[in-house]
Amino acid sequence: MVQFTVLSSGSKGNCTVVSGGRTRILVDAGLSCRELFRRMKLAGEDPATLDAILITHEHQDHVNGLAVTARKLGIPVYFTEGTHRAWMRWLTPRRQMTYAQWLEQCRKQAAARQAECEPTEGEPDESDSVTEDSAIEVEVEAIAASTETDAPDSQKAPQKDPTWLPSVEYFQAGQPLQIGDIYVSPFTIPHDAVDPVGFVFQAEGVRMAVATDLGYVTPNVKIQLKQLDLLLLESNHDLEMLRDGPYPWSVKQRVLSRVGHLSNEAAAKFLEEEYDGQATYVILGHLSESNNLPELARVTAERALNGRASLLANRLLLAEQHAPLLPVCF
Ligand SMILES: [Zn+2]
Ligand SMILES: [Zn+2]
Repeated sequence: MVQFTVLSSGSKGNCTVVSGGRTRILVDAGLSCRELFRRMKLAGEDPATLDAILITHEHQDHVNGLAVTARKLGIPVYFTEGTHRAWMRWLTPRRQMTYAQWLEQCRKQAAARQAECEPTEGEPDESDSVTEDSAIEVEVEAIAASTETDAPDSQKAPQKDPTWLPSVEYFQAGQPLQIGDIYVSPFTIPHDAVDPVGFVFQAEGVRMAVATDLGYVTPNVKIQLKQLDLLLLESNHDLEMLRDGPYPWSVKQRVLSRVGHLSNEAAAKFLEEEYDGQATYVILGHLSESNNLPELARVTAERALNGRASLLANRLLLAEQHAPLLPVCF
């Protein structure tokens, strides 16, 4: 059975479970692990049956519970390489360091390793320096890793390193991949993250898309969002509410920009003019709690969809921030 369950959607956390065949994928891990498991149970999903976690981008509302959840379940995490690096940097903020200082540090570390290059490798000092490295510069650590004598530390690393994950897999936008019984097509979206993506999932002939956190609907996104059975589309804010709302001007500018979030009006324009109307379910998601009202988002989208006779039978749902939606089953 193919199933799509939005557990949470919005700036306080995003998580969706996509199931098909014998495979279950968690799309984004923006809730704490505890809250994620609670909501999965509420929605009738068993966390232990998840096979993988797929990340759209590194913003906190999409990765908040990632490390704990992946470790607890012992499942792989799929990122683009850019998103993975950005996530690691977020967890291990860099200390400012010039290139000369970095070279000097590498020299000192090499000297220290040389001095300790006896059978006692991996004593407490060594493991401390691993933590220190990761706090300084992720890339530097990656380079240095090739020369590290850290085999005896490998047991300690997961507890010490906040970025440790059971397994990391990279994908690229535009290059489809398969996770178990689910085909995944990642596509680039315009958003102020390092390498943000949306996804089209296909399982048992059912096509479902996740397209939230995008400043506008690019020509490529329009192509991706065709012939779907389910579309989760961002309907972030009402333009007037945002304009008159509580956000500082700089934040308003960010939300409104081409790499911000999709407004009710922009989502409706897409639904009215570009969308092919094939999906049985359209779910509006990532609604702002400060600059939107569920009813406004619904009415704006309904107006756009109702203009088209072929869409009358379709279902329009609203994803929520604080409670899971009932699973959509095919
Ligand atoms: Zn978001
Ligand atoms: Zn975002």
